Amino acid sequence: MDLFEYQGKQLFARYGIPVSAGEPVDTVDDAVAAAGRVGYPVVVKAQVQVGGRGKAGGIKLAADADEVRTHAGNILGMDIKGHVVERLWIEHASDIAEEYYASFTLDRGAKKHLGMLSAQGGVDIEQVADENPDAIARIHVDPVEGLTEAACRAWVEAAGLNPRATDGAVDVLLKLYEAYVDSDCDLVEINPLILTPDGRVHALDAKVTLDDNADYRHPEWEEYRATQVLDERERLAKEKGLNYIGLDGSVGIIGNGAGLVMSTLDVVNQVGGSAANFLDVGGGADAKVLSNAIEVINTDEKVKAILVNIFGGITRCDEVANGIVEALGRVAVKAPIVIRLDGTNAAEGRAILAPHESDRLISQPTMLDAARKAVELASN
Ligand code: GDP
Ligand code: MN
Repeated sequence: MDLFEYQGKQLFARYGIPVSAGEPVDTVDDAVAAAGRVGYPVVVKAQVQVGGRGKAGGIKLAADADEVRTHAGNILGMDIKGHVVERLWIEHASDIAEEYYASFTLDRGAKKHLGMLSAQGGVDIEQVADENPDAIARIHVDPVEGLTEAACRAWVEAAGLNPRATDGAVDVLLKLYEAYVDSDCDLVEINPLILTPDGRVHALDAKVTLDDNADYRHPEWEEYRATQVLDERERLAKEKGLNYIGLDGSVGIIGNGAGLVMSTLDVVNQVGGSAANFLDVGGGADAKVLSNAIEVINTDEKVKAILVNIFGGITRCDEVANGIVEALGRVAVKAPIVIRLDGTNAAEGRAILAPHESDRLISQPTMLDAARKAVELASN
């Protein structure tokens, strides 16, 4: 689960990381009132879970109440890369001498935590990584040993920050690591981490992703869940208990097992198409789950064909076939369905589908054939 910037900053503050005084608000009047309390000049910041808010016009400095009123009015309701701004964070503006980048995430390959620190912050870190990879200092942290002050200091020195920032950066990064581990985060990112003209190091932005697997030991996350904005497809999938992730393409995907679904996305891509989603119905999926899956994909306007790729193990292909037939009877499926059934009870499954086959329901013998057919139908 991703947090909004203000939630990330509130979390950072609990670990002693310096952040600016601020308040979340939902209206222009509240923005003006909050600005009076945090003290001018202020920054009016769009709270949406997407990067590049500054470039999109969602971050504005305001020197007085009139400017807050203007900016808050403009930013509330603004669409930033498909995310509509419903909340603002009003914080006391900082003077910036330098902008850095800092993060911790899990390096699954190394089985360690990975810290990244760069003197080139404020901009897209992907761009720095592409154009100037040496500008990012990395540190692997063994989760059992933790991050020692000495290791942290050596890392900061390797990043080539202004020497005036060294002590402050070491302090922030040790606290950031503690927040990351203690709060069960998948990612903590500060971009920019700033050095102020008077020599303080301070988090000006916050990106935090919580590890949903640790949900059970964080009752306090309920507060975050209440503010999550799911798109309609994701909301419906969640309600039906499906493992669904929305993407941007035109081929709806249903498969059983995360690995098979990932491969299906790759194959669709390989034959020139693009997936509209990831949807894993899991092992042992029955007719009900299949028809729910089709129903969720059916709400996606972009879907022009649905590819069902099942390799039966625990999942039985006859159950899957029944699910498809049930879905066809229950919902008006807008896109043609291409299906590949293999494995347990594949012959029985195909026999169930046979009488229903048409140009709206097409069986294919292999995953590659099925992907080709779905992509062809999606591009018509
Ligand atoms: P993002 O564009 O979504 O990453 O939003 P940020 O919170 O990182 O803000 C974008 C940029 O706005 C920062 O890199 C800063 O250059 C600028 N900015 C944000 N807060 C302040 C502030 O308090 N003072 C000044 N001078 N600039 C700020
Ligand atoms: Mn930022």
